[in-house]
Amino acid sequence: MQGKLFIISGCSGVGKGTLLKMFLKNNPDIKLSISATTRQPRAGEVDGINYFFISKDEFKQAVNNNEFLEFAQFSDNFYGTKKNFVEKTLNKGIDLILEIEVQGAKQVKEKMPEAVTVFIMPPSVETLEERLRGRHTEDEETIKKRLNEAKRELKAGSEFDYQVINDNLDDALSTLQQIIDTERNKNVNG
Ligand code: 5GP
Repeated sequence: MQGKLFIISGCSGVGKGTLLKMFLKNNPDIKLSISATTRQPRAGEVDGINYFFISKDEFKQAVNNNEFLEFAQFSDNFYGTKKNFVEKTLNKGIDLILEIEVQGAKQVKEKMPEAVTVFIMPPSVETLEERLRGRHTEDEETIKKRLNEAKRELKAGSEFDYQVINDNLDDALSTLQQIIDTERNKNVNG
């Protein structure tokens, strides 16, 4: 049986990284896809674990070779999911999560309508701004760009199969677990 594909999106600073990390810890049989990006690694990020950090030329080449299931430009950088990795994982019967932004989520849903899409929402735009500033990983210009992207992304959130509000981490975690359990059971029951 084919693995099930889940797409999780949500604006920068919504806390989806923390949420997903905890979710994956509780669900070790679900795999997280590692994307390729032209962004510079942040402190503590490791090539091949957080992302495959590649140059713009390497990224262009992969686009020309049709290696991406989806790719998008986000805040001056390119991000993409390798087709080969997704196909291989699903063919092995392993369930897979793509943690990608909304343009990429749309591309995948068009190609693979059976994919389940989940959008993680902040309780408000103000909370999002506080969180983005609070993590001190971006400069002011980057924060502004990410906030603008966030506003655009929030509008797109309604097109997702599910929305999860990340107000309280435990609540968001249990809602996400329920969604994924429900969808996985659908597979089992035919
Ligand atoms: P960050 O720079 O904060 O790691 O990621 C920025 C945004 O890019 C996030 O919304 C993240 O979900 C998204 N992203 C990460 N990998 C991919 C990918 O392979 N494709 C797309 N479309 N977006 C991605």
